[in-house]
Amino acid sequence: MSAPNKSNNKKLFIKTYGCQMNVYDSERMAESLGGQGYETTQTPEDADMILLNTCHIREKAAEKIYSELGRLKGLKAEKPDLKIGVAGCVAQAEGAEIMKRQPMVDLVVGPQSYHRLPAMEEAVTKGEKALDTDFPEDDKFETLKSRPKAKRGPTAFLTVQEGCDKFCAFCVVPYTRGAEVSRPSERIIREAQELVEAGVREITLLGQNVNAYHGHDGGLAGLIWDLDKVDGLERIRFTTSHPNDMDDALIEAHGTCDKLMPYLHLPVQSGSDKILKAMNRKHTRDEYIKLIERIRGARPDLLLSGDFIVGFPGETEADFEDTMDLVRTVGYGQAYSFKYSTRPGTPAAERAQVDEDVKLDRLHRLQALLGEQQRDIQDSMIGRKVKVLFEKHGREAGQMIGKSEYLHAVFAEVSDVSIGDIRDVLIVKSERNSLGGEIC
Ligand code: SAM
Ligand code: SF4
Repeated sequence: MSAPNKSNNKKLFIKTYGCQMNVYDSERMAESLGGQGYETTQTPEDADMILLNTCHIREKAAEKIYSELGRLKGLKAEKPDLKIGVAGCVAQAEGAEIMKRQPMVDLVVGPQSYHRLPAMEEAVTKGEKALDTDFPEDDKFETLKSRPKAKRGPTAFLTVQEGCDKFCAFCVVPYTRGAEVSRPSERIIREAQELVEAGVREITLLGQNVNAYHGHDGGLAGLIWDLDKVDGLERIRFTTSHPNDMDDALIEAHGTCDKLMPYLHLPVQSGSDKILKAMNRKHTRDEYIKLIERIRGARPDLLLSGDFIVGFPGETEADFEDTMDLVRTVGYGQAYSFKYSTRPGTPAAERAQVDEDVKLDRLHRLQALLGEQQRDIQDSMIGRKVKVLFEKHGREAGQMIGKSEYLHAVFAEVSDVSIGDIRDVLIVKSERNSLGGEIC
């Protein structure tokens, strides 16, 4: 392969769709292409390369990407040297089909092959097409360039686990991200130390099934306790977890590890045992409720978040009422709810489907209940003192915005506070999606 053009005048625009894992992957792709002379731009019109980092979790994902590529056609016509690439789960699922439908696409790369991006970019620069949707043996994160020491904001994502072996009947993740793989804990600790040196104070550990992490003898709890020893790292979070992987050590850590924040995203999907079984979730409603009781026993003030799917094949009104009842029993401070969306190749896609208008009606009812709980829990923070990690300046002069331990957005008038400071704040008001406070 010829020597790459590493002149520092090329611009890269990445558009990121979907989850936090894609946000992390986009950062790492930008770093690895930095070695090829690219710096990032926020304007596609300025770019020499455009990458769409895609998500395939719900319906019409691929169609959205084809429409976006259609919109980019004009740019490519004006700038024939512009390189266009598709990364992420749609790239994995569609593969060569993308180049067939949109021949202007130069590069298609699946989520497990990002470390091969520099070589792919070189091939594209020579006028070749580059396609890689393998599941290679080597760890993409290890071979990707390490994080630069440049100063960065106070919060960061860090992927520790990828893929999934659980095969829930609705979900494409085991097919697009592959089998469960954990990164060795020493590499994660090293990356966390580099992040802290660059100014990071809070790290959110990411994985499709993060609590199934097995890159440390002590599982995810073992990793968290090692991170607890990293000087300068003040806060640890993790997402997304599966109920069956909440082991005793992790539950206990919620009560004993001061750096582990009192917030847990623990999706249940449905409150009906019949539907949980049809979804292949491998736990019952009662097991989930008892688990939450144990976690709250360890950390009574924990704010719980969840995911819900309504209108899964076979869901009756009584099954849906079981979900509403579970929500009332458990109480969520934050939640994501979706209409079931058929994903070709997954078992549930073949089953008799619930009508769209029934799904929509149930979604509205569930969201009304979840919204009410979210507001009540937010309002109950008034009069409480929380610790806020300040992340950015607010819209009004003298105002800064940050996150409480419970992941609530909090704004306050400040005078001697800098980005990255953690300060005690008394909550005085609750607005639609944020809390207002006064520095104590
Ligand atoms: N591993 C996590 C778990 O087991 O709960 C979830 C990760 S999944 C990437 C994120 C969420 O997307 C799921 O919790 C589910 O609620 C939603 N989801 C996945 N497939 C879906 C589908 N076919 N239709 C609707 N929502 C879906
Ligand atoms: Fe998808 Fe989560 Fe189920 Fe895995 S455990 S198949 S990621 S919903």
